[in-house]
Amino acid sequence: MEPTSRPIYVTQPYLPPLEEFIPYLQQIWKNKWLTNAGPFHNELEAALAQHLEVPHLSLFANGTIGLVVALQALRISGEVITTPFTFVATTHSLLWNGIKPVFVDIDAETFNLDADRIESAITPLTTAIMPVHCYGHPCDVDRIQRIADRYGLKVIYDAAHAFDVRYHGKSLARHGDLTVLSFHATKSFNTFEGGAIVSPDEKTKQRIDYLKNFGIADEVTVVGPGINGKMNEVQAAFGLLQLRYLEDGKQKRRAVDRRYRTELAGLPGIRCLPEPADTDVNYSYFPILVGPEHASSRDALYERLREHGIFARRYFFPLVSEMPMYRGLPSAAAENLPVASRVAQQVLCLPIHADLSVPDQERVIQLIKG
Ligand SMILES: *Cc1c(COP(=O)(O)O)cnc(C)c1O
Repeated sequence: MEPTSRPIYVTQPYLPPLEEFIPYLQQIWKNKWLTNAGPFHNELEAALAQHLEVPHLSLFANGTIGLVVALQALRISGEVITTPFTFVATTHSLLWNGIKPVFVDIDAETFNLDADRIESAITPLTTAIMPVHCYGHPCDVDRIQRIADRYGLKVIYDAAHAFDVRYHGKSLARHGDLTVLSFHATKSFNTFEGGAIVSPDEKTKQRIDYLKNFGIADEVTVVGPGINGKMNEVQAAFGLLQLRYLEDGKQKRRAVDRRYRTELAGLPGIRCLPEPADTDVNYSYFPILVGPEHASSRDALYERLREHGIFARRYFFPLVSEMPMYRGLPSAAAENLPVASRVAQQVLCLPIHADLSVPDQERVIQLIKG
C-alpha cells in the first residue's frame, strides 16, 4: 500500500458501512418519532449503561450541555477547582453557571489535575472539583475523592476523552458524583454530536432528565429552569450501530499506538506519554512531548507535518487559563501553573484513528525522525 496524498487528520471517525445505517433510518421514518426520549434514545441509554457498567445514564445533544447541566443538577456555585490543560468546554461550562474557575496545576506524568495541589486552592467559596481524564488517562480518583470528602466538595468528572476506559478492572465512569461524556465526531465513540451524564442513583438521573427537557415533569408541571439538551433519534440510532464497531475500532487504534511507541522509542527529545498502570485505555489520543533535545522545536515539527498534509494538533495549547476570559483570574498566572505551561509548549497529538494505514503512519514517523 502506497501512502495517500489525502490529508491525515489527528482523528477521524470510524464509520460503519452506510448500508447498515439505512434500516435504522427506515425505522425512524416508520415511527415518525424524531426526538424527545424516542425508542432509539431509550435503547441507547440502556445499552450504554450496560456497556459502561454504570447504574444510570442520561443522553445529551452534546457533551458541553451535559457539563452545564451537571453543574446545575448538583447546584454548584461559587468556586470550582479545575485544570487549565483541557478543551475550553470544561471551563466554559463553569462560566455559563456563573461559577469562578480556580486553576490548579497538572501532574507532570499524567497531565491530569495534580491532587497534591488541590487542598491549597480550596477556599470557603469552593463547592466542587471538576477534573478531566485527559487523553482518557485516569485522574487520581481515590485521592480526589478523599479530598472532596474531607472538605464536603462535589466531584464532576469531565470524561469527554475517557469513553470505555476501565481502571482497576472497573468502569472509570463510576467515579465522582457525576461523570460527563462526549460523543462528538472527534471522540472514540460518536453520535455526530452527543454526550451523556452518568448518575449514581435514580433520583439524580430524574433531575438531570428534567433539566435536559426544559424542566418538564409532565404536561402541566415544570419543576425547574431546564434547557434543551435532548439527543435525537438519528443520533441515538447511529450510536447503537456504532457500538457494534467499538471493539474493532479500538483494536485498530491500539495497533497504531503500538507502532508509534516502537518506532519513536529512543528518539532524542521525543517522549511518549506512558500508558497508565492498571488501565484499559481507549487509544483515542497519541500525545508526545517535543523537548529541547529534539532536532526541531514542537512548533517547527507541527508546521513541517502540516506542509505534508499531516494535521497533528497541539492539544492543549494555548492553555485555557491563557484565554482572554480566564487570564485575569489570580489562579491563571503562569507562575501558578508551571507544569501545564511547559507541557502546553511541548505537547503534540499525533494522528491516531482506526483507518490510519501503515504507510500513512510511516510517513508521520519519518517526518518526526527528520
Ligand atoms: C470534546 C470535549 C468536550 C465537549 O464535548 P462536546 O460534545 O463537543 O460538546 C468537553 N471537554 C473535553 C475535555 C473535550 O475534549
